[in-house]
Amino acid sequence: MFNNSNVSTETPCQAMAYYRLSKDDGNAHESDSIQNQRKLIHAYLQNHPYMELVDEAYDDGYTGTNYDRPGFRSVLEAINAGRVNCVIVKDLSRLGREYIETGKYLEMIFPSLGVRFIAINDDVDSSRHTSGDDIIIPIKNIMNESYCRELSKKLRRQFRIQRGNGEFLGAFASFGYCKSPDDKHKLVIDDFAAEVVRGIFSLKLKGYSIEDIAAYLNNQKLLSPAEYKKSQGLRYQSGFQSSQQSKWSPNAVRRILENPLYAGTLVQGKRGTPHYKLKQMRERQPEDWVTVEGNHPAVIDKLTFDLVQKLLQRDTRKSKSCDTVLPLCGVVFCADCGRPLLRRSVTRGKRKFFYYICSGYKKGLGCTSHSFEQGRLEMAVLHALSHQIHVAVEIQAVLQEIGVDDINALRVKRLDIMIAQKNTELDGYRDFRMKLYEALGDDLINKEEYDIMRAKYTQLIEEGTQALVELKKRRSEELKNQSADDLWLQQFSRYQGATALNREMVAALIDKVYVYEDKRIKIDFNYRDELAYYLEILQEKAEEVV
Ligand SMILES: [Zn+2]
Repeated sequence: MFNNSNVSTETPCQAMAYYRLSKDDGNAHESDSIQNQRKLIHAYLQNHPYMELVDEAYDDGYTGTNYDRPGFRSVLEAINAGRVNCVIVKDLSRLGREYIETGKYLEMIFPSLGVRFIAINDDVDSSRHTSGDDIIIPIKNIMNESYCRELSKKLRRQFRIQRGNGEFLGAFASFGYCKSPDDKHKLVIDDFAAEVVRGIFSLKLKGYSIEDIAAYLNNQKLLSPAEYKKSQGLRYQSGFQSSQQSKWSPNAVRRILENPLYAGTLVQGKRGTPHYKLKQMRERQPEDWVTVEGNHPAVIDKLTFDLVQKLLQRDTRKSKSCDTVLPLCGVVFCADCGRPLLRRSVTRGKRKFFYYICSGYKKGLGCTSHSFEQGRLEMAVLHALSHQIHVAVEIQAVLQEIGVDDINALRVKRLDIMIAQKNTELDGYRDFRMKLYEALGDDLINKEEYDIMRAKYTQLIEEGTQALVELKKRRSEELKNQSADDLWLQQFSRYQGATALNREMVAALIDKVYVYEDKRIKIDFNYRDELAYYLEILQEKAEEVV
């Protein structure tokens, strides 16, 4: 944490400005040119006269993932020589794009040297951080928000705003089905049963286990599906249980939660005879099932349905000691030994504190504690998550403005580039493999080295060829795909502006959280590859409209 609470923002300081331009920023980002970075920082200093600009340094053509850059080294030298006690950059990504390493400077190196750090566009000023409330925890795998914001701004200027109504997330009023009186091949919604199904999904989203849900339904004296069916046959009007009958079981709850029927998907042909001569029915492989999406009115929207599937999977991997209603239950792992973190409590004075701790350490299996206070961890995750949500929402908004046809064209274009890159890579490997033989002839390598390297490059070529096939397949699929309905993208906007972490959003957006011994965290977000892919597409679009 920043530990310089005694430094007032008005304290005079000796500042050094640092600028960075790298090839991976592309020429499209002229707002990131060294000149523009310089202009911005000089303007900032004009408004902060108590800060004296002592020196400036820049790196041109160095990537943000590597800290061994001459300009940055001279910043560290100036700090060590005591010439400067403040570092100013335009935004965090100028310092570096690799969050763990960047975090090391932000949280450890700069504070320990008493250096104030300012990233203007990200509104970071270490002198303002006086308590643990406003934490910056280095987070890996998070996308650079301001980078995305700028990209988006640029694109938005180019397009007329014609936001699609995006009505996908319409609320469905009812759940549960019965056969249509007019056409018995058609499913229509049964209001009463639908209400029950909806309640079950909602309880699951809140974190209840299938056992809890079954108990709740029985407490409410609601008829189990079997009893309800009977009651319907008898034209019995009530869905409530009157006397001792078969009750809700956890399995009955699970069957409902796992049934895609509620999302409007009809799956048929799960069983059948393997051969026309055989009479016996057998279970068929899932790939042989006949699935019709959007077959009938859905009672649970697809996002909720998919979300619940994720929660069910997560339940099977959670540790026994964890409370399913807690947002991070079953999601937090030790970054070093990979075991789940357990939640423990400790009482100090009259207050009880909760914290996570490595289960390997707890069981004496040779790991360190990795302890992390629950509230702080949840805040850090929420902080990271809100960044990710902003990025996704921004991307979604820009995609909507671009329009479906354009997006598909961009996707294909993007794939063409990836295919070309893969080809170049493969050519390189083939070339190298050929030269190995020459190297052997010239006695540069011996036979053993030759064999090892040849095997290695042969494998790389095989893998590359396989990847190329995949890319080409994706390209032809992309050409057919006429819809830009990325349902996963819409998940993000659901949780925009959330002020506390909840289990539903964690299930929707986070795969795993890893905690390191030194309190760094790393988050594997869901859809991170998809987001990165879209960001690349937008980047290309931005270059196109220059
Ligand atoms: Zn561990």
